Amino acid sequence: MARMTIRDIARLAGVSVTTVSRALNNAPEINSQTRERVLQVCREQGYRSNLLARSLVSSRTRVLGVILPELSGPFHASIVLHLERYAQEQDYQIMLCCGRVGGSETAALFDFLVSHRVDGILLVSASSAAPDLLRRHARGTPSVLLGDVSPTATLQRINAVSTDNYVGGAMAAGYLSRLGHRRVLYLGPRRDSVTHVLRHQGFLTIARERGMEVETVFNPGAVSSAPNGYRLARQAGHTLVEPVPSLVSLVSHDPDCKKMMGLALKNVTLTLFEDGKDIFEEQGEMLFTHFGISGPLTLSASSHLGDMKKHTYKAEIDLKPALSEEQLYDRITRDFALLANHAAQGALVKLLPASMQPVMVARWGIDPATKANQITREQKRELVQLVKHWQVSIDARGDLAHAVITSGGVSVREVDPKTMQSKKALGLYFAGEVLDVDAYTGGYNLQIAFCTAQSFANNL
Ligand SMILES: Cc1cc2nc3c(=O)[nH]c(=O)nc-3n(C[C@H](O)[C@H](O)[C@H](O)COP(=O)(O)OP(=O)(O)OC[C@H]3O[C@@H](n4cnc5c(N)ncnc54)[C@H](O)[C@@H]3O)c2cc1C
Repeated sequence: MARMTIRDIARLAGVSVTTVSRALNNAPEINSQTRERVLQVCREQGYRSNLLARSLVSSRTRVLGVILPELSGPFHASIVLHLERYAQEQDYQIMLCCGRVGGSETAALFDFLVSHRVDGILLVSASSAAPDLLRRHARGTPSVLLGDVSPTATLQRINAVSTDNYVGGAMAAGYLSRLGHRRVLYLGPRRDSVTHVLRHQGFLTIARERGMEVETVFNPGAVSSAPNGYRLARQAGHTLVEPVPSLVSLVSHDPDCKKMMGLALKNVTLTLFEDGKDIFEEQGEMLFTHFGISGPLTLSASSHLGDMKKHTYKAEIDLKPALSEEQLYDRITRDFALLANHAAQGALVKLLPASMQPVMVARWGIDPATKANQITREQKRELVQLVKHWQVSIDARGDLAHAVITSGGVSVREVDPKTMQSKKALGLYFAGEVLDVDAYTGGYNLQIAFCTAQSFANNL
């Protein structure tokens, strides 16, 4: 059958072509019931308006460009998950680009997005160069910066959503002052980090106002200093449980992940298998990236991985956990009846997100030209299996620099749990990350750090 046109939709919905167009463009002239009726017919028929034609008429593409430094870290993966969800609720799609401010490619990414006439650009960056870059390159396209914004950048009148680190530091000083503390050791700010410097300035300003005495010990390192802690522990005769990244994205050599990069899945179940045995199962959100998988489910799963040299791992994703296999079979049968004359990929429009449809057809192994009404029962059963058991090989953990925490560290058997004092070297104490203790996200790791620090502080 020929491709469904706007005229077919108008006929089926019993309205004019103009009304369909208005409904698709969310024009104010049309009432909400008619709009919903038209959109319902579009959904039932798997109709997608010709975006190019729409954008020529309305000067809007309903696409938002997003530039992120990378997708490996849990922070950026979460941003993508939420952005995509909110954009879709507002009938927008996102076009995801990875590029670090300061890298040579960023200007080209702006050119790419502007030339694709995106309706807006979101730049995620903590770099102090970001506001200027946005101002110079977004060129008339509405834009927002998501990241740390220094007080001087605010003066450049950039739209920004940011954490106010200065105020955060000031609040911390105010809190300690209210508790009656007068002499404070401020440990660990890095001079090369805008975030650290602003927090520190905010802290010092309020501390001085309140007459507090602050001594600062700067961190001379550029990144995590856990290796220094491990080195000191080893020198004192401690055994280290091999530190590995945990709560981290997972690397998969499966090329399908890259094909679906940026695709966020909600309400799916992820099961992790170690040598064929399931060791983790949870429902939630995840994300495909250019290197594998990320998002909250993936991070939680990562903390269950053991020695990857000794075991093989794979993840299995149930894309429709709310449906049993039989229910899913019936649902697919109904979809295929409605979309009877659509070729295989088109027949999946109601079932799967757009970027997964071609990948699913390829895995399914069905001739892409097969019409929905020619698909056999056996092929539908195979599709059910793929949807309920989407396999992703897990080949490595993401790198330590992008992990929320490290699993492993100083063996807790060699530390007094009441005082946190070393059993090997008196006067040596351990707290936080350096210990072989870790937990899921949700504040538990911070709690571990606070409790172990409090214990040893009480016993010094
Ligand atoms: C992106 C991200 C999100 C996270 N989210 C959560 C969460 O939601 N919930 C949760 O429970 N945990 C979370 N964590 C983990 C949590 O932050 C850590 O487990 C916790 O901060 C560890 O505390 P710590 O004191 O051991 O180490 P750190 O917090 O790393 O503190 C060590 C300090 O020592 C300083 N320092 C190091 N070397 C030197 C030196 N030579 N001289 C001076 N100073 C030095 C460092 O600069 C640093 O300030 C997250 C971690 C990351 C990276």
